Amino acid sequence: MNDNKLKNNNLLEDNISLYSRYSVSTLFLKFFVTLLLTNKITKSVSLKIIRFTLIKNNKFLIGFLNGVYFGGRNINEVRNNVRILSKNNIYSVLDYAIEGENDEIFFDNAVESTLKLIDLASEEKNIPYVVIKPSSLGSIHVYEKKAKDINFFGENINSWDRILKRYNKIFSYAELKSVRVMIDAEQSWIQTAVDKIAIDCMIKYNKSSPIITLTIQSYKKEAVDLLTMIHSIAINNNIKAGVKIVRGAYLEEETNNKEKSVGTFFSKKEDTDSNYHFLVKFISKEIDFFYPFFATHNEKSISTILNENELKNRSFWIGQLYGIRDDISSELAFNGIKTCKYLPYGPIDKSLPYLLRRINENAVATDTFVKENKNIRKEIISRLKHKLEWQ
Ligand SMILES: Cc1cc2nc3c(=O)[nH]c(=O)nc-3n(C[C@H](O)[C@H](O)[C@H](O)COP(=O)(O)OP(=O)(O)OC[C@H]3O[C@@H](n4cnc5c(N)ncnc54)[C@H](O)[C@@H]3O)c2cc1C
Repeated sequence: MNDNKLKNNNLLEDNISLYSRYSVSTLFLKFFVTLLLTNKITKSVSLKIIRFTLIKNNKFLIGFLNGVYFGGRNINEVRNNVRILSKNNIYSVLDYAIEGENDEIFFDNAVESTLKLIDLASEEKNIPYVVIKPSSLGSIHVYEKKAKDINFFGENINSWDRILKRYNKIFSYAELKSVRVMIDAEQSWIQTAVDKIAIDCMIKYNKSSPIITLTIQSYKKEAVDLLTMIHSIAINNNIKAGVKIVRGAYLEEETNNKEKSVGTFFSKKEDTDSNYHFLVKFISKEIDFFYPFFATHNEKSISTILNENELKNRSFWIGQLYGIRDDISSELAFNGIKTCKYLPYGPIDKSLPYLLRRINENAVATDTFVKENKNIRKEIISRLKHKLEWQ
């Protein structure tokens, strides 16, 4: 990449194949929805209307958003999209993105789905990681109680044992198949318990390769403490620490649930940004101990990562979400950077929580979506021009 800076203006020719998965009408709709959600005046009303329409199970809107953000309804569909992305040298991280369910059968089924994904990842060289969501492996209430260490007896202990068994089943299979597993970070009130499982399991499974990667959210002031702790643990236990660095997707939920929220959150976007860049620099200086995955659509962050001298010729990944800033993913991959798309999949009728989060993000990560919309507008104009030329 020239001077390791992203240059957006000449991308359209290169990433035509990524946008080509959208019909012109989908592009129009994506453009329009993003316009409403990123404009200061229309943002909050549009957010309310879209959320309400989604919660009322509007088939049209759910179908449209699924087409943009979901990689497929089942493994076969998602596999097809993995192949399309791989033609652009973009790798895929598969995420069984069904959330908000709360029973033991669902949790056991999520384990079985993850084992199947591990099989797939071990056969397909284009899938470097498989993702697990802690809330799909156990009840939020049990994690929450464990994090606070209160009322932890009786049925809670059994449920906790089952949760630990689920993680161990996944990680031991991943180790057997040499597949890396990434643990997503979710709400702060479950994170202490999740981080503890992740770190204990890293000590057990990451001896010879970084099987487990945990996620650090830079919108938390405590993110640096967590990274520093993992660094010491990696040194003391001689393990390879997998870390995914994100800004954090639950800001609104944390703000609306202050009584449950754990830790302190930056209130200014610039502070979250600086913290993200601090984490990048920390990892870069100590790269001998880390296997990093930098998840972001932010161009400044990507430039910061690419300009870190210590990261040159070292192993790291950069990832974006499916359906967001495809232009950045294309350019990174085109320039030889190991680039992934996070590809969520699962039955359409269960995709609502994931879609709601993406819609919230449209309204929070305004810069990202304003820039994306410029590219979409160019794509629409280029398609219309093309059509007129052929008439
Ligand atoms: C591959 C991938 C995997 C991901 N996995 C996870 C995960 O496991 N867990 C998770 O929580 N998120 C995850 N995310 C989402 C991520 O945390 C961000 O929400 C999203 O990527 C937008 O941030 P950005 O870095 O792209 O940049 P930007 O668009 O520049 O940043 C937007 C982010 O900045 C922060 N922010 C915005 N306003 C404020 C404010 N006023 N005060 C403080 N902070 C603010 C928020 O975190 C917001 O999401 C993932 C993202 C990607 C690309």
